Amino acid sequence: MLALTVVPGRSKSAKIEDVPEPPLSDGSILVRSLALGVCGTDRDIISGAYGAAPPGEHRLILGHESFGVVEEAPRDCAFTPGDLIVGIVRRPDPVPCIACAAGEWDMCRNGEYTERGIKARNGYGAERFRIEPDFSIKIDPALGILGVLLEPASIVAKAWEHIDYVGGRSKVAAARTLLVTGAGPIGLLAALMGAQRKFEIHVLDHRDAATKQALVHGLGGTYHTGGIEIVGRIKPDILMECTGAPAVIAGILGHTAPAGITCLVGVTSPGHRFNIDIGQINHTLVLDNDIVFGSVNANRRHYEAAADALKNADHTWLERLITRRVPLRDWAEALEHRPGDIKIIVDFSL
Ligand code: BGC
Repeated sequence: MLALTVVPGRSKSAKIEDVPEPPLSDGSILVRSLALGVCGTDRDIISGAYGAAPPGEHRLILGHESFGVVEEAPRDCAFTPGDLIVGIVRRPDPVPCIACAAGEWDMCRNGEYTERGIKARNGYGAERFRIEPDFSIKIDPALGILGVLLEPASIVAKAWEHIDYVGGRSKVAAARTLLVTGAGPIGLLAALMGAQRKFEIHVLDHRDAATKQALVHGLGGTYHTGGIEIVGRIKPDILMECTGAPAVIAGILGHTAPAGITCLVGVTSPGHRFNIDIGQINHTLVLDNDIVFGSVNANRRHYEAAADALKNADHTWLERLITRRVPLRDWAEALEHRPGDIKIIVDFSL
């Protein structure tokens, strides 16, 4: 079967190659891939900056935003052939730490977790993959190929859950205004879930892109382009930073409303220094009881919450998030940044 593989740590090593059928040790459910989402993490792995091959192997099968159809499943599990399915990305560490032991592998304490298509486990970027029933999510047939949005939506559902946790009920209940920085797939899904929670939505992006603007308007929100100064004007109660752009992060800290919550979802690479007034930032954060925290990955509960959010969303709105579909043989095109791109998927039916 064909798979998209890469040598982690070595740039320009990604290629489509013929690989053996997925081993039973990957799980008892056999899945035929229908679609695979591409994200910044894949680009980082392909550039050689991130990722790890399975132990003793040289190459990694890429891909963590899966969507497929069950071909074989054991009788005693919740899946039957024909079911639509998405695989969870992370597996608990083998120790396990206190979080992984409780099924909260997204909060792994010792860093020994593995991730399909990212860290020490082959991913879903192959014509077929196998998966364990416990790490599989059934997709409502009404959602169809939009199920490929479940993994990025799970990241956002986890971030929202933690906003609730760290904010405490009273603070979050009082919060009205949400600002999302970055109108990529994660940012737009964050805005969607904010709209489902009845927030006043603002989205800031550096591009004046018609589709993104229409999507934000479709949520009843306001689309802003231009400088980061807008944050100080809006003074959001909740700010979800989804660009991972160092200059944006340097510009947002300390600019929420008092008792504001800033959730950092975008990952940055080290090595960006800024001349910022940390005294002023700390002054504001402390005197205003502000919270700034980071969030990554998702456990089963978050995938389920994300599945609900997608189910309850306007499906024509979700469809507009997928701006390009490329066949597996042209996967390299999926990595190109083109004007108007939001989510690009590899479509196995093409
Ligand atoms: C994935 C997460 C993963 C993170 C770090 C993201 O792209 O969506 O599941 O934990 O990368 O590896």
